[in-house]
Amino acid sequence: MTYSYSQISHYLTCPRRYRHRYLDGWQEKDTRAVMLFGRAFEQALGAYFRKEDAAGALFREWSAYQNQHLHYSKGDTWDRMLQQGIMLLDRLCQDDRIRIRQPRKNLQIKFTCPVSNTNDFVAYVDAIGKVDGTRCLIEWKTTSARYPDEPDGLLALDPQLLCYSWMTGISEVAQVVFVRKRLVEVQYLRTTITDDQRAEFGQLVQDTIQRIEGAQFLPHSGIRFPQNPCSTCPYVGLCLGKQQLVNIALVKRPGAENLGWLDELAY
Ligand code: SF4
Repeated sequence: MTYSYSQISHYLTCPRRYRHRYLDGWQEKDTRAVMLFGRAFEQALGAYFRKEDAAGALFREWSAYQNQHLHYSKGDTWDRMLQQGIMLLDRLCQDDRIRIRQPRKNLQIKFTCPVSNTNDFVAYVDAIGKVDGTRCLIEWKTTSARYPDEPDGLLALDPQLLCYSWMTGISEVAQVVFVRKRLVEVQYLRTTITDDQRAEFGQLVQDTIQRIEGAQFLPHSGIRFPQNPCSTCPYVGLCLGKQQLVNIALVKRPGAENLGWLDELAY
């Protein structure tokens, strides 16, 4: 079995959700504009660091969805997102705070490590490069709202960065956040992950895999803040037994149990 951050994250959110997704093969339909835009923007970033036409790459990738019926968040349209994406690429260029040497090698880097005799763990790290002169592991994020940056050091608690630091052994990590708002902004958030944090994350992975292999899939349901995972869960139709909701949100893919690593390319 090949495990990934997405699988661990799904399980920790709600074990029942993990079962729907990774054992029963139910997957969310790819109609969320924000997610598809994020993928298109990542392609544009690749072009930017390879010194190619980044705006052209964004237009090309995003055009594939122009006439599809996507679910847009409030206020978003295809045109508006494209415009914001181009402004964000401009801002990135003006800021000029990131260096990626050998971009063909140092973007979307695959790491694998064995976590037992029969299991591997895989991660696709967005980039390794320098942010403000410090070499670090970099994750790109596109969002419509700023990421919180206080209290100081908060980023060190981000589970995805903890996971990738654990996988790669790189302690300096950064999140570069592309904020799509009226006045676009790029946040350059950096932190250091300690050896203890990496060891603890490794234990969390082992513990989670044991629970998965012990077939523990009890639901962690909740509908009220702050424990409200069901309110936004695409699998709510399955849990409520409402086929109509299932048809709207999900598709069934056979043999899903060993394809979890594919999620890594989508987040
Ligand atoms: S609807 Fe709630 S209980 Fe069901 S899978 Fe989603 S989060 Fe878990």
